Amino acid sequence: MTATAMTQAPKETLNAFEIAQQQFANAADILNLNEGVRKKLRTPERCLTVAIPTRMDDGRLEVFTGHRVQHNTTRGPAKGGIRYHPNVTLDEVKALASWMTWKCATVGIPYGGAKGGITCDPKSMSLGELERMTRRFASEISCIIGPEKDIPAPDVYTNAQTMAWIMDTYSMNQGYAVPGVVTGKPLALGGSLGRNEATAQGCVYVVEEAAKKLNMNLKDSTAVIQGYGNAGSIAARLLHDQGVRIIAVSDSKGGIRNTRGLDPRKVLEFKDKSASVVGFPETEAITNEEILTLKCDVLVPAALENCITLKNAAQVNARIVAEAANGPTTPGADEILFERNILVLPDILANAGGVTVSYFEWVQNVQELYWEIDDVNSRLKRIMTRSFNDVYQIYKDKKINMRKAAYVLAVGRVAEAFKLRGLFP
Ligand code: GLU
Repeated sequence: MTATAMTQAPKETLNAFEIAQQQFANAADILNLNEGVRKKLRTPERCLTVAIPTRMDDGRLEVFTGHRVQHNTTRGPAKGGIRYHPNVTLDEVKALASWMTWKCATVGIPYGGAKGGITCDPKSMSLGELERMTRRFASEISCIIGPEKDIPAPDVYTNAQTMAWIMDTYSMNQGYAVPGVVTGKPLALGGSLGRNEATAQGCVYVVEEAAKKLNMNLKDSTAVIQGYGNAGSIAARLLHDQGVRIIAVSDSKGGIRNTRGLDPRKVLEFKDKSASVVGFPETEAITNEEILTLKCDVLVPAALENCITLKNAAQVNARIVAEAANGPTTPGADEILFERNILVLPDILANAGGVTVSYFEWVQNVQELYWEIDDVNSRLKRIMTRSFNDVYQIYKDKKINMRKAAYVLAVGRVAEAFKLRGLFP
């Protein structure tokens, strides 16, 4: 794109909550929901903002800000991850919480949606600082979380260790171990087999279904992975194991390309040692802008929001965009990709494998009965395949894009549940 074309691109909002509201409104229009129901379903039920005083290693007292938002609990307890990132805002957490509501409804698991976040720079913090911040945050939000109320999980820059600290803090206050208060725990504390891989595994299951619809042979195909955290690095590995050639990957520091194909395991080992994929042997460095427009069959955005926008959507050169991240594509970009016949597997479908196995983990905790990995993956595959086909059917019938189709399914399910429960009091 020339510089003039870039400056001429119409403006669009990059505020995640406004985007989430717009996506919801599109579905509400198609479903013909009345204004009262719309107001109810678009408004978060509860937003808690807390101060998190934390002792830093140098003796200083730092005060972080954290949020926990419960968007909707009509279909079950609120569910969703907690992220640590410098750009976390209440609006972002509200958007992410609402995406969880629609995600759980898309795949038909009995949860509402929630999200949490702390505005901090986890990469610059020691393990001790992260633990003290996490425990104080857990304590501050413990009045609204619990296995029957709201169940946190990992998200960007949080992991199984973070969940272990939250589980312990909550349990100490209760006086007994409560594993079901969080999911994504270490196996030793009641975590589920397959949970660590679940987001990527679910994404690969829907890519397989999409490939069948497009008569695409995954074994002859290429993939580009933007983001090399839990979702991106494992998606790269699972796709590679299916015979897909991974021709480029990136992380926050930049990207690397080798059209002959990368070995995702070796790239991860390299990243673990050098803190980035950049510099991996026998690769050409590419920018974080370039990676999204490389020619490939499957593009997997697996980083943060607002990566595919009006500025670059016309240059995306993939057949399938599988959103392992939450909110990577703006509504304006969605329209362009749809016109260009690129099949977008929307976040609330494509990355729902994570929360689906979180649900399995919670079921195992509540029942105190643990499953084999084959049970986890076969149930996950069934749910992802069925959900893909439910969404695809609406996409075909209504001739709308896949995101709108997923929202029609999800919002329809929550609206139906709301109608059946009625209003209290
Ligand atoms: N953070 C993940 C997501 O955005 C997982 C949430 C969960 O397991 O509750 O879907």
